[in-house]
Amino acid sequence: MTNLSGKVALVTGSSRGIGRGIAERLARDGALVAVHYGSNGTAAEETAAAIAEAGGRAFTVGAELGVPGDVDTLVTGLETGLRAHGKSMLDILVHNAGLNFMGRPIEVLTPEEFDQMVAVNVKAPFFLTQRLLPRLRDGGRIVNISSVSTRLASDHGIGYPLTKGALDVFGHTLAKHLGPRGITVNSVVVGFTRTDMTADALSDPATLERNISRTALGRIGQVPDIADAVAFLASDDARWITGAKVDVTGGVNL
Ligand code: NDP
Repeated sequence: MTNLSGKVALVTGSSRGIGRGIAERLARDGALVAVHYGSNGTAAEETAAAIAEAGGRAFTVGAELGVPGDVDTLVTGLETGLRAHGKSMLDILVHNAGLNFMGRPIEVLTPEEFDQMVAVNVKAPFFLTQRLLPRLRDGGRIVNISSVSTRLASDHGIGYPLTKGALDVFGHTLAKHLGPRGITVNSVVVGFTRTDMTADALSDPATLERNISRTALGRIGQVPDIADAVAFLASDDARWITGAKVDVTGGVNL
């Protein structure tokens, strides 16, 4: 499991949840991982420490996304961390950080909440990619973390699925654009997965049961279910997959 030896990865929002799982898995496969966080530096340090304890290499980068100067702050922190490790280039970019105002149907979602989700879930990945393209090595990987709510009507609101749909369009359009450089771009479609984001919703037994019953494999997703799929897309084994939406939901609503 060292197929990413010598590679460098940035995983946005990897202080907690799915991002942390992805960071740990990529590091286990040999990559040096930049563990990005928004406000929870302690959790990011814990992720980096867990990676080091397992024999991997990581450093943390703090930058709140969705605010003016977000991309500048992130790229400056990334460059500092890369320099400290004798690196300047990136091989794997995972756009995982996401914001979801759950339980906000169209009747109540405010323009401010809408703008914030667009800023974190769409604008930040767009302009972060733009800034990092010169640093992304030919043959590199971009993985966007999308949502099953792009293919079924969500019970939990309408604004968030719109942003993930936009991220998917960004992904397949970029895949064509970056094909000549051998860079692949794919979306990982995630269903209900146990993290802080879904803790409240999944504490409701009816919501839990509804989500299990519509999943072919008969359970709620766990972080490693997603991290393993991302690691595959980041690996050389996935070299011929680009512009794809890979459904990693355990078969929701088949
Ligand atoms: P969590 O809420 O558990 O973790 C979110 C992560 O993103 C944290 O590391 C957080 O950093 C970071 N983050 C959030 N907002 C910002 C911001 N404004 N600026 C910088 N960093 C930010 O989320 P999940 O792990 O559940 O979700 C990860 C991804 O998976 C998201 O894109 C989400 O939309 C997607 N997804 C999740 C599903 C699920 O069921 N969990 C289902 C479908 C998709 P910090 O710790 O500093 O706050």
